[in-house]
Amino acid sequence: MALPTDFLIVGGGIGGLVLAELVGRGGKRVVVLERSAGPPPWNRPEVLWPATIELLSSLVPESNWKEQAAVPLAGVKLWTGKHFAWAFSPELLERAGVHPWSTDPNQSRELLMRLGSFELHRGVEVKSVLKEGGRIVGVQAHDISAGQDRDWLAEITVGDDGANSLVRAASGIELAARVFPRDLVCFQCDWPASLQRNAGHLWPNLARPQSGILAVGLLPAPGPRGMGVIPTSPTLSHDQPRADREWQALIQTEPTLDALMSVRKFPDDFQRVRRPWGHASRYGAPGALLMGDAAHPVSPAGGQGANMSIADGRAIAELALAGERDLLAAYERNRRPANRRSLRFTRGAAFVFGLPEWLLPPSLLFWLVRQFGTRPWLLSRFIRAASTAFVARGSVAKYDRRKSSLTQA
Ligand SMILES: Cc1cc2nc3c(=O)[nH]c(=O)nc-3n(C[C@H](O)[C@H](O)[C@H](O)COP(=O)(O)OP(=O)(O)OC[C@H]3O[C@@H](n4cnc5c(N)ncnc54)[C@H](O)[C@@H]3O)c2cc1C
Repeated sequence: MALPTDFLIVGGGIGGLVLAELVGRGGKRVVVLERSAGPPPWNRPEVLWPATIELLSSLVPESNWKEQAAVPLAGVKLWTGKHFAWAFSPELLERAGVHPWSTDPNQSRELLMRLGSFELHRGVEVKSVLKEGGRIVGVQAHDISAGQDRDWLAEITVGDDGANSLVRAASGIELAARVFPRDLVCFQCDWPASLQRNAGHLWPNLARPQSGILAVGLLPAPGPRGMGVIPTSPTLSHDQPRADREWQALIQTEPTLDALMSVRKFPDDFQRVRRPWGHASRYGAPGALLMGDAAHPVSPAGGQGANMSIADGRAIAELALAGERDLLAAYERNRRPANRRSLRFTRGAAFVFGLPEWLLPPSLLFWLVRQFGTRPWLLSRFIRAASTAFVARGSVAKYDRRKSSLTQA
């Protein structure tokens, strides 16, 4: 018996929404169930790379992205202790041929949720999966405002439900997750008038190398707003007086940072994220597929997670619309090598940030960034690697030629 829905997507993450729109446009019946009733309350920034931008711009006009969710990034500036200098300059990005966007993830998801090729139910939390003869045939979900439970049946259930995926656990798929050794303390703010509007800014903690607060990073968002991340030692929060002292010492090193932060208490007035990372042993089970953080949670290193999730969504859509019979095997073949490449950024960062404080003063990181700066070819290679790691190798040429037959359909 044919089930009423072709694709039932659990979680309205960025990749799941892209998948929903692409297969919906291809004529499939698609339902998305998203737990939160409104926009997610995230404060974090998300850098998106050109292959992702090209796909997103084929779904929502580029002008809408720029008005509501994205700022084209000219480069990243570094506080040297005396002034800001380019760490990644506009010339360097030009030379690498990479033009990233800095985005507000809440607004990106809102823009995608407004697309019309799928049925979206917000405020609906999936509680368990339904199985028949060992195959997943849908989910049971709770409609939070109506206070009612309901079964949703589908040919394929897709878990885009984040790092602690219920679909993954219910499918019996293992993911040996490790915890990223730094907490990510996130914030939003109005964009300071004294900072260049379309550039990221980084304040390394040069004055107090072993304070447990590595740096403050800030990226632009439309508004003009800013969204930032502060990598912090997890043990710092155990000693609030010390955290206060170290925080004050850091922000007083630069007037803009001081003006921006002196009104906030650290870390209580921020959103603290502890990130697991790892790679699922399989990307699905009979009747179910995993994508995005549900299949491969990562840290922000290299700006990969959202880009990987969107690439997963695109791959599933292309394979499904091409009539692929063994969707899981083909999806796994297509995406696992690329996702493994992307995970290397997190693996490397976890190693470096996991070193004892005395081995990893921010001044060393600062020195490394400056050394990179004197070798533009090296930086340029790094940026190209980060901007294409998540793209399946067979698709790189296609992206480069700026073609997308699927999304033009
Ligand atoms: C500080 C920080 C900075 C980052 N910076 C970048 C960056 O610069 N570039 C980049 O590419 N990535 C970045 N990432 C990673 C990126 O944000 C994630 O990898 C990305 O959001 C994953 O998207 P997703 O589609 O897998 O799902 P998610 O965005 O994790 O969404 C999952 C959705 O599922 C919903 N959900 C969960 N459980 C249920 C349930 N039971 N029922 C219904 N709904 C459910 C949730 O409400 C959520 O909306 C960053 C992450 C952090 C923490």
